[in-house]
Amino acid sequence: MIIIVKQNTKEERIRDLIAWIESQNLRTHVSSGDYTTIIGVIGDTSKLDEELISGLDIVEGVKRVSEPFKSSNRKFHPQDSVISVGDQKIGAGHFAMIAGPCSVESREQIISVAKSVKAAGATMLRGGAFKPRTSPYDFQGLKADGIELLLEAKRETGLPIVTEIMNANHLPLFEDVDVIQVGARNMQNFELLKELGRIRKPVLLKRGLANTLKELLMSAEYVMAGGNENVILCERGVRTFETTTRNTLDLSAVPALHELTHLPVVVDPSHATGVARYVKPMALAATACGADGLIIEVHNDPPHALCDGAQSLRPEQFEDVARCVFQIRQTVQQLG
Ligand code: PEP
Ligand code: MN
Repeated sequence: MIIIVKQNTKEERIRDLIAWIESQNLRTHVSSGDYTTIIGVIGDTSKLDEELISGLDIVEGVKRVSEPFKSSNRKFHPQDSVISVGDQKIGAGHFAMIAGPCSVESREQIISVAKSVKAAGATMLRGGAFKPRTSPYDFQGLKADGIELLLEAKRETGLPIVTEIMNANHLPLFEDVDVIQVGARNMQNFELLKELGRIRKPVLLKRGLANTLKELLMSAEYVMAGGNENVILCERGVRTFETTTRNTLDLSAVPALHELTHLPVVVDPSHATGVARYVKPMALAATACGADGLIIEVHNDPPHALCDGAQSLRPEQFEDVARCVFQIRQTVQQLG
């Protein structure tokens, strides 16, 4: 349920209304815009007397929100959310350019990639330390040592770091990580999502291999229901009958999610296509259709990468992509 409060209502009256709602075992989410305040009510609202609330002199209107995702729903929070990551922001016109290798492989590799993507305009560094590989015989990541190396790269370049968690027991290792990634394979690991709801660090939540946008939003809801509202959604392609590309990039997810939710949406053209030469056109298309950021795999020596070399850009290719993306961004902003 959302309650639209009349303009110029005193703070104190709004606080009283919230306290009354919360006394009935419900949670509230308040969104204050320039002209209106909206109180989102979360929980079993069936027992709330809608007529009684509509009749209050400070209430402009009451609407039931039928969608099961509440906290992430744009009806609860009409303005775009802005998520802060260190001194960077994402959402509401703030664009994140996240780049780095699929996996952290060595000090030399991560520092050199970090420096080159930063020089090309990246705003965050990605790199997997815990890798969700299809085969148990493939490189599984450097784990805790990988996180240490990412932190070293952060100290060298100042770039905030984004890295994937696979097990909630590893959370203590993520203390100094800026954005915790939940990979496609864990999008519906509800126990992990609940744990991430207990912290306040930004979570980059990737869409599952065969999940709908509604399911993605319900997973975001697991994190937000715990009180962590810092969720960034990521479209990374879904599984279809097509085999030319690794996945099928669902770009319509960007405008559709923007309609359904206030959370920022980034696009991963690397895992979506699996082919380095398709990354640039898809990155440009994602930017043109309004993505709030991109996450792109970059490796200093793709043919020898321990993971996902075929889709990784060399630093100079990333530089070219970033330059074109920033131009498209300008055009998108000018067009409004
Ligand atoms: C990754 O970003 O390294 C990754 C494993 O991505 P996804 O979960 O989208 O497959
Ligand atoms: Mn990868």
